[in-house]
Formats: sequence, C-alpha cells, structure tokens
Amino acid sequence: MEDDGIEVELEDGTIISSKVHLILDTGDLPQADSLTHHRGHSHRAGCRICKITGVHNEKGHGIYFIDHSGAGLNGPSLFTQNNFYTIKDPEFYALYEMHLVYHGLGHLYLNLINSKFDLNSTISPFAINDINEIMTSIRQSRQNIPTAFNGNWQTVLSGTVRVVDWQDFLLLVVPTLIVPRLKTKKAQEATIALVRTCQKLLTYELTRIDVENTEIDLKHWHCYLQELCNPGRDGGQVLSVAVFTPNQHYMTHTTRMIELLGPMRMYSSRRIPGANANNILLKLGMARYVDAFLEKNNDDEQVKRKRKIVYSLDGAGDDDPEIRGQLKSIDLEKNEEVTIASVSGRRLIEALMTFLRTWTENSNIKRSQINKKVRYGRNRAAHFVRLRLGVDLNVNGGVGSVILPGTQYYYGQVYFYFVHEQGETSRMLMAIGLYSMLIDSTSGSIYITPLAFANPVLTILDVEAICDFVGILSGEVDGLIRHYCIWPYMESTEDPEIMELLLGNLNLI
Ligand SMILES: [Zn+2]
Repeated sequence: MEDDGIEVELEDGTIISSKVHLILDTGDLPQADSLTHHRGHSHRAGCRICKITGVHNEKGHGIYFIDHSGAGLNGPSLFTQNNFYTIKDPEFYALYEMHLVYHGLGHLYLNLINSKFDLNSTISPFAINDINEIMTSIRQSRQNIPTAFNGNWQTVLSGTVRVVDWQDFLLLVVPTLIVPRLKTKKAQEATIALVRTCQKLLTYELTRIDVENTEIDLKHWHCYLQELCNPGRDGGQVLSVAVFTPNQHYMTHTTRMIELLGPMRMYSSRRIPGANANNILLKLGMARYVDAFLEKNNDDEQVKRKRKIVYSLDGAGDDDPEIRGQLKSIDLEKNEEVTIASVSGRRLIEALMTFLRTWTENSNIKRSQINKKVRYGRNRAAHFVRLRLGVDLNVNGGVGSVILPGTQYYYGQVYFYFVHEQGETSRMLMAIGLYSMLIDSTSGSIYITPLAFANPVLTILDVEAICDFVGILSGEVDGLIRHYCIWPYMESTEDPEIMELLLGNLNLI
C-alpha cells in the first residue's frame, strides 16, 4: 500500500485515494530487539539506539550499562530488508513507555529500597526496613482510592503485579510514603527527580521546557546512582553497577525520542480493561443528558425519567472520571432539621447563603430570598476531590491592599452534589468539607493530619472547581498517621515556595 495505495469510493461516487506508510513499530525490549535485528539487551552492545558497551557486575555476571562506546546491530532490520523506506532509523522503533518506565523502573526502585543492589559492606541511603508496613498501608487505603486509579492497590512484593500497579507504586506511593523514609536528603532529591520524570512521561502534553527539565531530572538521578557505584568514592562503593539495567539506559534516550515523536503516551498501546471501555461508552452516552437536565423548562417525559447527575471532568486524560447518580428532591423550607449525608439542612442553607453572596456578587441576598428546594445525589467514586479556585491572595492584607487574584488548590470530601435554581440561574453545586492541608517538605506531597481529617469545613462550591478525583493514601511517617492526597496525574515538586503558593488557604474562600 506504500506504492500502490488504496482507493475508497463514497456513496456519492467520490473517490478518495490514499497511500499508507508505516511510520512506527514498537514493543517492549525483547520485541523491539527482534524487530530491529538487534543482538538483545543482554548483549554487551545492548542498546539498539546508541553505541554503549555493557559491563559485568562486581561478581562478573550480567551486562549493565554505565558509559558509551561499541555497536549492537547484527544486520539490517526486517523493514529495511523489505524496502519500507519510511523505517530506517532506531527512532522508528520508539520506546514503549509502559514496560520501560513503569514496569522497568517501578520494579527497579522496589529492589533499590529492598537492598537488592547493596554491596555487603555498606548500607544504601535508599534502604528502608519497613517495606511490609508500607504494603499494609497501601492495602488498607484501598477503600479510599476511587476507580479513576487503574491499579489494584495491593502489595507489589508478591502475587500478580500489573504495569498499572507499578505505575501507581512509582508515581504515587514512592513520593508519599517512601521518600520521607529515605536516609539522606540526596537520596530524597534524586528519587523525586526520577518520580517527576516518570510522572511527566505519563502525560499527553509536554512543553519544550518540560522536556528540558526532564532531561535535567534524568541526569540528576543517573549521576547520583553513578556516585554511589563509584569504587573510589569516600566511604567506599555503596551500590552494585547492576543498578544500571538496560531499562535505566534506555531512559536516557527518552527525551530525544519525545523531541522526535512527541509524548510517549500518544503512541502508547495500553490495553483498556473491559470494564473501563464500558465506562467510557456509558459516559459518552450519558454526557448528552447534562444539558437537557440543567435546562429549567425541559419537562418532557424522557428527561424526567433520566433525572441523573452526569458531569465529566475535562483534562483528566483517558481515565476521565465523572459524577453520576440518581437525584432526589427535598424542600428545606418545610423542614430545616433534615439531614442529608451528615449535613443538616440548617447548615446547608447557611453555607448556600455564603456561596450565593460571594459568587453572585450580591452581598444583600437574604435568607428568605434563597430558594430552599434542591435536587441532590451522591457519587461514591467522587468522594474526595482536588479543586482549583481563583482567590484574592491579598484578602487578609489589610485596608488598601491591591486585589491580586491567584490560583490555589484545595482538597475536600464531597458529601453530595445538588442542583440549585436561584432566579434564572440553575447551578450544579456540591456540599463539600474542605481540609486544612500540610506539605511534606521532602517530596512536596500534600497530606492531612488525623485531626484536620476529622474536622473538615463545610462549604458550597460549583462543581466546575473540581480538577481531579482524589485518593487518600494513609500511612505512618515518623510515628504519626498522615492521609496523603493522590491523584492519577499528580506531579511532584520538592520546592516548598511553589507548593505553599498553590496550596489553598481556607481563610481566602
Ligand atoms: Zn543507548
């Protein structure tokens, strides 16, 4: 089809001619090695892209990759032999992010903290001694991890561990429960550099600056490992060169690959589990009800029958979660003592009044003027959320302060969603308990103390403010329980100034 092309005749007789070119063929390391006729990643010249030469470990076993020289191809690839002129450079075999990054590096990092690369006489700064406790924390947090996360949230030490489980472990568990346990600041910073690299590689959009920063982070990670593998190091060599696996080496080619082919996630061939595919179809079908549902005057039978909340979050990638549920009607005018999902009618009306005063710019609105009829629903999957709000950062700056709008992120537990009509406007709102949050200075992760977790502040907000559905990963750090907030596209930064600027202050809303 590359030479002759295909012709498609449309119903109206129009003929469309196209030629088909193969531009990419990829797979995990063994698969790509066979496609390219490469000797394989366990060969001394184990990279199909560059001329690196591998070395044995300290016991004379295996092949590991630290520096550059040599060549590993044993002939023209299958495609070059068959005159596919589009396929000629190593880049056309891309890099397969799923196995390379999450399975490869997730597993490697577990081995690192499990002392698998430690030389006998030394203790690695990565070694931690309570891995089993961490696995217990993961398992016990499962009930607070929504379906927007694809992993199983079970131990990764044994049993069936899928790529998505390694992904959750590396991108979400490592920066929260593991980084604070590492023995040195250098090990913490190097780990965050690795995690941040892998978090970036998961995303569908990368700017040039993102790619440059990823290159810096990757170098940081590799240089730190090289330092620990150096026999001439003060205090002796800490890690075996076995830590430089083929996966580690191929990671050094990722930024170049992104420059040539775009974000790796765009050509990732992830398998969509059946249930997930079903959800996507459901969402596409149901999303069409939203407009009809919010339209005030639309009373036709079909809409009445399907009185459901369906609300999709934008920008959450292919896992795009949604709020969905049956609605019930309640009139708080008749009974303020009623309780909806642990929120009393009286408190709800007070919070609604504050919301309407702030968000409608009508500070004179009175209690008697508020429409107290609501239609509400709950959604288990959207229990914990991350919110993005524009706030006046100078609200407490005193008289004469300049209004400085800024974006801040808040975290809370949604009690229920409801539709509220006030005048001509129909809004989809939520009754939410917002938490006072803290920043872990070693990783920039966000957590809630047990005291704050038990005392959220009731607020009414528009559902438009939700940017992510959040999981709560609870575990002990330095003898105290922390409830870490995690979300699928979380990005780690250890810069406390940036984190503090962005972390929502409850006094500002
Ligand atoms: Zn290479």
